[in-house]
Amino acid sequence: APTMRLDRLLANLGYGSRREVQSRIDAGEVVLDGAALGDGGQRLAITPDLPERMTVAGRPLDPPPPFTLVMHKPLGVVCSHKEAGRNVYELLPERWRRRNPAISTIGRLDADTSGLLLLTDDGGFLHRVISPKAHIEKRYRVQLDRPLRGHEADVFAGGTMMLEGETTPLRPAVLEILGPREAWLTITEGRYHQVRRMFAALDNHVVALHRDRIGALGLPQSLAPGQFRPLNETERAALF
Ligand code: URA
Repeated sequence: APTMRLDRLLANLGYGSRREVQSRIDAGEVVLDGAALGDGGQRLAITPDLPERMTVAGRPLDPPPPFTLVMHKPLGVVCSHKEAGRNVYELLPERWRRRNPAISTIGRLDADTSGLLLLTDDGGFLHRVISPKAHIEKRYRVQLDRPLRGHEADVFAGGTMMLEGETTPLRPAVLEILGPREAWLTITEGRYHQVRRMFAALDNHVVALHRDRIGALGLPQSLAPGQFRPLNETERAALF
């Protein structure tokens, strides 16, 4: 396991500046395996079990990096710091927003899309998931303004569909019809507003969009909109 100075670990997890965390250490707030740690300069092995062994002011240490979350993204929040409006990062504990490396979303969902969203501080993992070469399947439940006409599945499956303003065709996508105005759509890319634009290109309009699957990872039933939890190893393996 990589090692890191205790004061740096705590500062990187958002517990305060190096000076602030040193005063918490001096005050005996930082406990490892039952014993208060006094020296901010000591090096610790950064292992995933640290939160079970270490407390700060009596609370388990926040998960150290690398760290990935699964979230049920609610409607009405954006996935970017730059966009106006409430963002998904505001749903996380305040301290987590000060972490270094920072937590960022793995891809984005529109403000008016809900469902399965992953967040991570692991840049390598992020790139493996969003890499255009990975072709990881993402499944969306789509509700439409107008009834399906019957040709949509073939158009999407064809691998020749071109979105306005783009120069490369979309990869084949799978449409499973659930009702006159409702379907699953599985895509293996993540172009800007892709699902909405695919239906707009066929003169329809998406009125509700919800992502329920990435690879073989389904949105956990236990997560209500706005809720999140760490992704476990089994779930992580389901992505690839
Ligand atoms: N396609 C969209 O149009 N919006 C999303 O949020 C995701 C996929």
